[in-house]
Order: sequence, then C-alpha cells, then structure tokens
Amino acid sequence: MRLNCPRCNGERIINYEDIIECLDCNLEFEKKDFELIEDKSNILAIQEKKAIVHELKNSINLEKKENE
Ligand SMILES: [Zn+2]
Repeated sequence: MRLNCPRCNGERIINYEDIIECLDCNLEFEKKDFELIEDKSNILAIQEKKAIVHELKNSINLEKKENE
C-alpha cells in the first residue's frame, strides 16, 4: 500500500503495522482511517484526535461544574 501523508502530501512515510508516521509534519495517522474515510483531507492525525478528546473532556467537566 503506497501512502502519502493526508496532511502535507509528503512521501516520507514510516509504515508501521497499524499507523503511518509522516516525517515532514511529524503526524501519525491510523491506517484504518484510509479505508474508512474517502476524502483524505478529512483524515485526522492521532495527535489531532487526542486534542479533540481532550477538548471534549474539558467541556464535559465544565458542564458538570456548572450543574453542581
Ligand atoms: Zn505530512
């Protein structure tokens, strides 16, 4: 499977078993996303997913506090 980085279109990719890592932008992507998501520009890097989860947790915690 020949992959380009969905973010910078770089070709300097390290191919792991389940993820790829782009040496140009240092982002990691899950390979299964390439099969699930047709529009490559919509693929999120693992780092971006973690940031989103972090944001969600923060907003859930804020809501909890407001309801206390
Ligand atoms: Zn890249």
